[in-house]
Amino acid sequence: MPATHSTRMLILGSGPAGLSAAIYGARAGMAPIVVQGIQPGGQLTTTTDVENYPGFREVIQGPWLMEEMQAQAEHVGARMMWDHIGEVDLSQRPFRLIGDGGTVYTGDVLVIATGAQAKWLNLPSEEHLKGKGVSACATCDGFFYRGRKVAVIGGGNTAVEEALYMTNHSHDVTLIHRRDSLRAEKILQDRLFAHPNIKILWNREVETFVGGGEPEGLVALDLKDIRTGAIERIDVEGGFVAIGHSPATELFNGHVELDEDNYIKVDPGSTRTSVPGVFACGDVMDKIYRQAVTAAGTGCMAALDAEKFLAEADFEANAPKQAVNA
Ligand code: FAD
Ligand code: NAP
Repeated sequence: MPATHSTRMLILGSGPAGLSAAIYGARAGMAPIVVQGIQPGGQLTTTTDVENYPGFREVIQGPWLMEEMQAQAEHVGARMMWDHIGEVDLSQRPFRLIGDGGTVYTGDVLVIATGAQAKWLNLPSEEHLKGKGVSACATCDGFFYRGRKVAVIGGGNTAVEEALYMTNHSHDVTLIHRRDSLRAEKILQDRLFAHPNIKILWNREVETFVGGGEPEGLVALDLKDIRTGAIERIDVEGGFVAIGHSPATELFNGHVELDEDNYIKVDPGSTRTSVPGVFACGDVMDKIYRQAVTAAGTGCMAALDAEKFLAEADFEANAPKQAVNA
């Protein structure tokens, strides 16, 4: 018979959002259980240097930061469960999540912190050079390419914002797009076209990320002109793939309201979802900022929103019923 674990506050996901919710939830006496998923610690465990998380003067390592967050959450009383959830029932409280092995988790409130994953071009050379010049986050890694030639791949808001952001660090930024017009908002396009340090290569796809040097890093991109098939090489030391993100919301499709890009919809200025008692935080509800510190911030908000929800629910449950015929 599969085990059942029950708690006041169930948290799905163990990135900065889930662990921050756990720290606040534990300190508020909600005895949170965190179901960690197949990536305990979340996206930051896939990177090395983190230089923009507040509180650290020196460069810190992503996996180390996440170990510290987990240790802090456990220290204040959160319980970690290593499991991946494949099924949810949010039709009544307590909410039920079912792990792949059949273990059942129930919570009076649920915090969804399942994050998002960057989309990649899925080229072997891209995989080989990830973290060695190839990145999916200019805000995170752009600083490491000060004074170097860089390229951003994509034609949406993210790509244009990342190209503009990279001009803070580089005087030679190339935007590479597979079509001859951008999907990005006009105001961003205007800024992009007006910027003297950005050039645009239209109708090009990356054929190969070219490595070189010792230690090996990105040195060039081989680009294919999709109209003629011609291949040209451009020298760059940083390649930022900005072709969109996929929020991890498949599990919740049909259970909570999602927006047109499949991010979980929350009430403005809160983490409340369309289901009372279910809260969402971090990259799974944020398609704009997508940073560890913003994920942690909304994780805190989710715990505070959850605490308020439970206090109100408890008050209503315990309030003396008015006599009907009084
Ligand atoms: P995530 O970190 O994505 O965590 C999601 C969690 O949900 C994981 O624990 C996963 O196992 C779990 N999960 C998902 N589905 C399930 C399921 N079905 N069942 C159970 N668990 C599930 N940000 C910065 O601020 N600074 C940086 O320097 C920086 N560098 C980065 C470098 C890289 C390579 C990447 C990819 C991102 C970087 N970011 C950086 C962005 C930052 O990592 C994210 O914004 C942040 O991790 C989002 O946190 P999150 O908690 O919302 O989700
Ligand atoms: P997006 O709008 O889906 O754009 C993705 C871009 O990448 C498109 O230009 C697409 O090309 C290109 N692309 C996709 N797959 C590719 C591939 N395999 N090879 C080459 N190019 C590929 O994604 P996004 O820019 O991340 O934006 C996602 C959502 O977040 C949007 O709703 C956006 O408005 C929003 N957002 C808003 C802001 C803001 O308001 N400031 C900032 C960032 C994001 P095609 O155009 O040819 O399809």
